[in-house]
Amino acid sequence: MHALSIKDLWKTYPNGIEALKGIDLKVKAGDFFALLGPNGAGKTTAIGIVTSLVNKTSGDVKVFGHSIDSELEAAKAYIGVVPQELNLNQWDKVFNCVVNQAGFYGIRRREARQRTETVLRELQLWDRRGETARNLSGGMKRRLMIARALVHGPKLLILDEPTAGVDIEIRRSMWDYLRTINRNGTTIILTTHYLEEAENLCRHVAIIDDGVIVEDDRMSAVLRKLHQEVFVLNLRQAVDIAPKVNGFDVARINDHELEVEIHKDQDLNSLFSALSTAGVEVISMRNKTNRLEELFVRLIQRRENERDQEQVVEEFNL
Ligand code: ADP
Repeated sequence: MHALSIKDLWKTYPNGIEALKGIDLKVKAGDFFALLGPNGAGKTTAIGIVTSLVNKTSGDVKVFGHSIDSELEAAKAYIGVVPQELNLNQWDKVFNCVVNQAGFYGIRRREARQRTETVLRELQLWDRRGETARNLSGGMKRRLMIARALVHGPKLLILDEPTAGVDIEIRRSMWDYLRTINRNGTTIILTTHYLEEAENLCRHVAIIDDGVIVEDDRMSAVLRKLHQEVFVLNLRQAVDIAPKVNGFDVARINDHELEVEIHKDQDLNSLFSALSTAGVEVISMRNKTNRLEELFVRLIQRRENERDQEQVVEEFNL
């Protein structure tokens, strides 16, 4: 069963911009899915269509088998959305904000109150239930938006940039929470600018660029496609210059740190033995590359090159 199935989805805005050019996407029930892409790629448009905020030009969208054309209410009941902008009524009390949302889904008051308590407790907002939204910190407001999106018990949670502007500690506790609800059966789709976030959380990744899906695979498979990684080596003794090691590109960062680029087909053991022959002892190492970031940049560059080539072909009528 697919939580979300998108077929040949097109969107042309009235100003003529083709935001989506026939995208296909399938998200399995239970998956933790990242939709990535640079600004203007079409992510918000795609999410807007799925959540019926944006009208599509053509194509099919089904949520747990329910078409957004013929069974919109059923499809909507499966979805909880956390939009990118804070869209809380600043004067609403925290409790009311959540309980009223449950009302929109036809949940009776008594049950709505119970569910509200549960989600507010889970998101560590129960103590704040009597305060107005405007008195909450940025991280709390985001958590309140998540609580509001979850109160009707959606099976698919869609988050658009959930941790934008949230400090590291809160981001990590939000990650833990999202992992927990995913483990308990909620399918999650998120867009994020923090590629580290996608790499940490998501099992599947689709990358969209200029209205086209350019990558759609398991996260592990996508990361395996990378050819090189940069490692930082911590040294026991200080070095004045970078040691020369055959076949490896080694640079000195400071007295006790070296940076080395390792290609996919290179063997780390040979690096360590060459270093030890040169009298350099490594005490620890860390991966410097944000691997997804690298992939992302490469994909976008590839598309830019393709576009340039197309232009050359056009200009010279080849
Ligand atoms: P992303 O979320 O990946 O940044 P968007 O879906 O917001 O991308 O935008 C995709 C393209 O559609 C962009 O070129 C953007 O300028 C355009 N666009 C988005 N919303 C509208 C709109 N309401 N009217 C006209 N063009 C829009």
